[in-house]
Amino acid sequence: MNATRRIALILTAVFLIPVLFFSAYEISSLSRDEKMIESIYQKQLEAILFSINQYSDDLIGNWVARTENLLMSENRQAGGRELMMVNTPLKLIFSYPLQSESGRSKFIYLDTAFFLSREPEIAACVAAQQVEIAQLVKYKKSGFQKTAVLPLSDSSRTVYLGLMFVTEDETGQSITGFILDPEAFVEDLIGPRLQQISENQFLLSVTRKSDQRQIYSTQLRDSTSSVILQKDLWLIPDYSIGIGPLGTSLSKIVRERTTTNLILLLGMAVVLLVAVFLAFRSVRQEVQLAQNKAEFVSNVSHEIRTPLALISMFAETLEMGRVPTEEKKKEYYSILHKETQRLTAIVNKILNFSQTEAGKKTLHPERLNLTKEVHEILYTYDFHLKNKGFTYEFQAREEAWVMADRAALTEVIINLIDNAIKYSPENRRIELTAGTDGAKGYLAVRDFGVGISRADQKHIFDKFYRVSTGNLAKASGTGLGLSLVKQLLEQQNGQISVYSDVGKGSTFTIYLPLAT
Ligand code: ADP
Repeated sequence: MNATRRIALILTAVFLIPVLFFSAYEISSLSRDEKMIESIYQKQLEAILFSINQYSDDLIGNWVARTENLLMSENRQAGGRELMMVNTPLKLIFSYPLQSESGRSKFIYLDTAFFLSREPEIAACVAAQQVEIAQLVKYKKSGFQKTAVLPLSDSSRTVYLGLMFVTEDETGQSITGFILDPEAFVEDLIGPRLQQISENQFLLSVTRKSDQRQIYSTQLRDSTSSVILQKDLWLIPDYSIGIGPLGTSLSKIVRERTTTNLILLLGMAVVLLVAVFLAFRSVRQEVQLAQNKAEFVSNVSHEIRTPLALISMFAETLEMGRVPTEEKKKEYYSILHKETQRLTAIVNKILNFSQTEAGKKTLHPERLNLTKEVHEILYTYDFHLKNKGFTYEFQAREEAWVMADRAALTEVIINLIDNAIKYSPENRRIELTAGTDGAKGYLAVRDFGVGISRADQKHIFDKFYRVSTGNLAKASGTGLGLSLVKQLLEQQNGQISVYSDVGKGSTFTIYLPLAT
């Protein structure tokens, strides 16, 4: 037991500890991986938001450039109208000369009567932005076309966005600008772009922050997707673009991945545990076998030594002529004969076992009447049994014709009867029952002896195994008998089973295929 415990410890150390370390490492690296994925994802989302912002800036830049060209052309009014018709978010284009010179007309294209009425208001707003305008002029001089927000008066600002920039034509510089409808800007221009970028892989949406209203979304409102990152639109800071994974949230993806990995790890651990268990079991068996073998050698030596000592002693006494009467002489001869028989039996048993185990013994199953065979054996054994003080009873429930090798069957039955004799010190009774059970014929040999504990029952059919506890532990034996019985039966498609209660007795039942 000590040896097996040591093996268990070694196996645990060799297999389980590395697995535990590896699992711990894997689990920790899992969360690290998740964080990395999350940050990569975050960066990707940021890049997308950046590109959308860039796109809206480009749109404005394009309008600015076209307006500049317009101002140079002859037909400003018609050009302005066309620009606004194509770009619906553009509600108004205005242009005021920076230095009023006579004869220079101010350019203003008004879309609706609404703006017409607001013209003085817009002019006032522009006039109030002298500092910003000076800045824009300075940028323009150094070659940068900058756009600044024109703060509209409160009533217009909630709905519209004003932008202004400096333009130049042959008559000089003007402060030019647009009034935009941000909602239309988002819906008509940013929206299609978002749709194109999302490619049905992301959710992209635009929300107005002041009233938390979603102005645009690449997915239907009731979709399960949710925005995980939001950025303001540079151009219209009251609007923010949001992005999120489609269908599932990132945390769900991460969770799913973690679960799969954990399941895999767990599976691996289970497989390894099973492997460790199997390895342990086979090693334990080997250790047990080695121990049994060692015991076998000492058992056999002991078994042989006793008859040898007797033979040597009686032979010597006879040789020296110290036996007084003929009667005594006869008794000594008979002892010599008995002991030689015992030796022969032991040697035969060992030889038989080794031959059977090596598969050198070929069996010749034939149609046999089980009842008849048992009767014959009992007839031969009658004297021996009665001599040892045993009573026996044989009951044949049915005629059982089985397929078996006659010599092997005899050997099996004699082994079982021998054991019943050997392990029944007090209640010396043996009951045999034969019959059929399904496609098998059976023979049960029951004794009322010492019985076998449940733990030992598992091993008694192992080779060399002997029960090492109890008052019969020292009964003579090699531990080969039941193992030989089992092998012989299995070689002819038979089986053996045991039912035993310690102190009450044992029943060994053999099964053999019925002859058809
Ligand atoms: P052996 O009898 O030579 O020791 P066996 O292989 O025949 O070897 O039996 C193995 C062990 O099973 C025995 O040591 C004995 O403890 C136990 N055993 C076998 N038959 C019986 C029985 N009828 N009653 C009690 N114990 C038995």
